[in-house]
Amino acid sequence: MIEIKGTVKQYAWGGYHYLPMMLNSGFGNEPTAELWLGDHKSGSATLIDGSPLSKWIEAAPEYRLGKGLVLRYGCRLPYLFKVLDVREPLSIQVHPTIEQAKKGYKREVSKGISSDKRSYHDDNHKPELMLALSDFYLLHGFRNVTEAVEELSKYKSLHELVELYSGVGIKGFVSLIFNLPKSNLDKLLTPIIEANRSAYNQNEISKSESLFWFMRAIARIERDQMELDAGLLMIFIMNLMYVSKGDVVYQDAGVPHAYLEGQNIELMANSDNVVRCGLTPKHVDTRELLEITDFTPITPETVEGKKGLDGSTDYIVPADDFALREYKLEKGQSLATPEDKGACIWFVLSGEVKLDNQQHYSSSGSAFYQRPGEVNVFRAISDAVIYRASASTN
Ligand SMILES: [Zn+2]
Repeated sequence: MIEIKGTVKQYAWGGYHYLPMMLNSGFGNEPTAELWLGDHKSGSATLIDGSPLSKWIEAAPEYRLGKGLVLRYGCRLPYLFKVLDVREPLSIQVHPTIEQAKKGYKREVSKGISSDKRSYHDDNHKPELMLALSDFYLLHGFRNVTEAVEELSKYKSLHELVELYSGVGIKGFVSLIFNLPKSNLDKLLTPIIEANRSAYNQNEISKSESLFWFMRAIARIERDQMELDAGLLMIFIMNLMYVSKGDVVYQDAGVPHAYLEGQNIELMANSDNVVRCGLTPKHVDTRELLEITDFTPITPETVEGKKGLDGSTDYIVPADDFALREYKLEKGQSLATPEDKGACIWFVLSGEVKLDNQQHYSSSGSAFYQRPGEVNVFRAISDAVIYRASASTN
């Protein structure tokens, strides 16, 4: 097994402390949003000598990824492992299926669309799984119609919209709000903002209410002098989900979602394809959004872990590209890493471990790359929690 170093992304919505503490990298003035452990061209991890993991894999793909993975997914890791620190809400987004991604990528490349206006940065799908590392809030899929109508009806300025919503259904409603002239959007939203500003500022709105996240989005829009956008109305018709530390949520292609607050591990197919649905100053491709979104209401649920005989927990989701396994090791315990036909990435979340082929100790934020067929032993110096990402060749 070789040690690898993640690549850090400094997006504006990130936190200031969580990732720098985990990586022991010192605090700066820029927020640190994401740690990427994978070989994606937008941010490959590196080997200890600083050279990109992507190049190292490309030099001997069958030996380093495994024949099965190369045949099924090509000469790149099938998955991308991330750690996120969400201080401010991210944009609402939807990810494509493989077919949609292939079509979309080809179309955007052939049209020569500049990268800041692109939704497709590669030709892969991006189902994703998240494991909460703290209390975590997110928007996840559409509410059923009764709940959405009930939520919208709380606000007098939206009463006309409620009637429309009942008439045109979810897709019709989303199409309508994303095509509203800005002046109409202002008229609908300004009364809600003014009526709730002081309650929000005095902490009188609970995080369990959609209104809290609406007002939090407004606070950011006002601070950054952004325009009101239709994503603000999406907050009322999407499920607001709270999960606690250790809970896992799966987001399939087509399910709109937005991370609102907290820290998590995110494991996804190796892609950066995002079609945005508001709460963002970035480009929203409304046509594509209507094309790839699944408008069926869903009831949010968490993914149950399945315990293995070796004390591991598997989080099984309907995606072959990635699988997440958790090990909680007690001080002094050893773990022989199971052999795998494909490449695995190991990540130390907490505690301290020592790998049998290394001299030094590894603590939170450390990561390792396991080649196909390789076996190693982790020894827990203190209680430790480690994760393994792998892929299926089925
Ligand atoms: Zn996403």
